[in-house]
Amino acid sequence: RDRIIEQAYGHLNENQRKAVLTGEGPQMIIAGPGSGKTHVIMHRLHYLISYGMVYNTRKIPEGITKEDIDILKGDIHHPRSKELLNYYAIDPRSILVITFTKAAAEEMKSRFFNMKDVNGTRIKSILFGTFHSVFFRILRNAYGYHVDQVLKEDEKRQVLKKIAEELEIEYQDEQEFLDDLENEIGLIKNDLIELSYYNSMTLPSEQFRKIVSYYEQYKSQHQKIDFDDMLYDCYILLREHKNILSFWSNRYKYILIDEFQDINKVQYETIKLLSAPNNHLFIVGDDDQSIYKFRGARPEFLLHFPQDFKDSGRVTLDINYRSTRKIVDISNSVISKNVHRYPKEIRTINPKGDEPVFIQSEDSEEEALHIAEWILNWRKKGLSYRDIAVIFRTNLQARALVDIMLDLNIPFYLRDEIPNVYEHWVAKDLLAYIKLSKDIKDNESLERIINKPKRYISKGVIFEACKKGGILFENIYKTPQLQTWQVNRLEELKFHLDCMKNKKPGEAIVYIRKHIGYDDYLAEYAQYKNISVKGLKELLDEIQEAAKHYDSFEEWMYHIQNVGEEIKEGKRRIIGEVDAVTLSTMHGAKGLEFEAVCIAGAVEGVIPHNKSTSPAELEEERRLFYVGITRAKKYLAISTVKKRYEEEVKPSRFIEEMTKKPSTEEFQKGAIIVHKKYGRGKISNIDGTTAAIAFEKGIFSRKIDLKYCIDKELIYIEKDETN
Ligand code: ATP
Ligand code: MG
Repeated sequence: RDRIIEQAYGHLNENQRKAVLTGEGPQMIIAGPGSGKTHVIMHRLHYLISYGMVYNTRKIPEGITKEDIDILKGDIHHPRSKELLNYYAIDPRSILVITFTKAAAEEMKSRFFNMKDVNGTRIKSILFGTFHSVFFRILRNAYGYHVDQVLKEDEKRQVLKKIAEELEIEYQDEQEFLDDLENEIGLIKNDLIELSYYNSMTLPSEQFRKIVSYYEQYKSQHQKIDFDDMLYDCYILLREHKNILSFWSNRYKYILIDEFQDINKVQYETIKLLSAPNNHLFIVGDDDQSIYKFRGARPEFLLHFPQDFKDSGRVTLDINYRSTRKIVDISNSVISKNVHRYPKEIRTINPKGDEPVFIQSEDSEEEALHIAEWILNWRKKGLSYRDIAVIFRTNLQARALVDIMLDLNIPFYLRDEIPNVYEHWVAKDLLAYIKLSKDIKDNESLERIINKPKRYISKGVIFEACKKGGILFENIYKTPQLQTWQVNRLEELKFHLDCMKNKKPGEAIVYIRKHIGYDDYLAEYAQYKNISVKGLKELLDEIQEAAKHYDSFEEWMYHIQNVGEEIKEGKRRIIGEVDAVTLSTMHGAKGLEFEAVCIAGAVEGVIPHNKSTSPAELEEERRLFYVGITRAKKYLAISTVKKRYEEEVKPSRFIEEMTKKPSTEEFQKGAIIVHKKYGRGKISNIDGTTAAIAFEKGIFSRKIDLKYCIDKELIYIEKDETN
């Protein structure tokens, strides 16, 4: 036995091996990033299909003799062993592996296929999927669903919109209204909340309930289901139909789940049903990386697993194989600031490695350029693009990065969730204004912005004017029932359009916001909706920032189109297939690893995000930052800006948490340091606690009192050349 195990799993550490070779029944692994949780799942799969439970089962099955077992244990390459393994190992069709995103499932599958020594034909039948894909499969089998029956996102919104109209529910902005509605409907399904007990946050609860029940009616009449139903309906199906449940729990006898900390209630309850009664459930997770609370994820399910599954085995992994000691140290130092966590220590035998690099820039445009330089620099030093990732907190931050990548011809991958800012309705409003100013006959644009800000032109009037054909603006203008003050509003609009006609894109946007009153409109809108205007304003700022670089509208439009195509391309690319830099949000980067990682925009307000203010939310932000920095294997860069949208910002508090204060003795002649104010420099001389430093920017060598700087946390050692 030992020989075989040594051959196949020799490189695993003791605890990893224990996890891989464990017997049947529930098994939980809680461990920090880079400790090989996903790696263990891979080897567990290998073990199940190659050796099965042969070493763990006491009873010898029929048709196999004691001698057979001896042969098997003695020599894996004996011809009889091969036969026995086929016969005796676990049928790969009975194995189900679940992860949280399609990308992660794909990645796992390909990692597994690339494993040495895996018998290709056998593993093809393991099912790797997301909760959605797996549960939909079960539903399809029961109800014969066709993929066409799945309500697409826009269809779903259409339906909800119609219902709201039917019920004469008032709202100001369609998009926001539908977003909120969809989120809430998702929440009650994911959390298995009884509708009649639920108090809506979007609408009076009575109205909300009505919408939901109409929506449910619609779906059942038209035989449609949506993404939330895939989970919810599957749970109900299995709960209510014992025969169907037993079919599926017999089919998937072995269930393995990665990133278990992000499981939500409906998923958990369904898994409990499916895995019973044998509970061959192998779960791995890290509560410190739970970052989907806003979508109903409950890390408690991971932490309370032993209570829910009696006799569950439990292994902890505490060696980080991914990152340098420096990176492990600073990430420990960050995450240890969280109060609500399951304590775990993580160490590494990897070399100490470089200090993290701090990139400082004036604003996000300069930052994007600095990050691009940083990327090209690594490339020159031998890394491939695919070894590098830029990770950020919010989708918006991708905008400047994508622009610079296009300019410098650096290929990139975009992780799923990053949208194109120009497809947001706010961007579309701005573009509609500009287009309309160039061409008053652009009816579509006029229809879009006519009541943004409110000009009190009713839907009826617009509808009638549209019907007439021709130039919408003139038709509305000539509508007899229009009051004088409404006519004045239209004339005012025309005046503004003429004024901005020849402006450069950046200036035109300022004009729309300030003179036409679009900013005020958004503020009013946000107040009415009881949402923060900050997010919308940021989007406006971001678009304005981008537009500044273009002299003409045509040029800018050309760029926007280009961005659109490149973003599509960046999303289409399959990770690993092309040599490209990964651009990802912290959410999207979970589970991945790269030689070099740059965290962009590490400033207060971005990470932690300004919408996260409660202690619990701050802890979630810290976990996000932690997920970000722990993606790095060897090189970590943290980038900050001094200004965001013209406003001064401070470096993220998490940066300070990364840096244990160095002691004065650690500063040696020759070391490269980074001073928060003066930037990077080399220590040319040291006298007591006073160091002479030649800074890269500027010609002078400055004398610095190290003690003072350390106390104020104004200085870091970037490269410790003494070890
Ligand atoms: P995360 O929490 O970020 O998902 P993880 O715990 O899933 O991390 P893995 O991605 O499985 O960690 O492993 C991190 C890296 O360490 C991978 O490159 C993996 O191949 C490597 N690794 C894991 N275990 C070992 C081992 N025993 N020997 C060598 N390399 C290992
Ligand atoms: Mg993992």
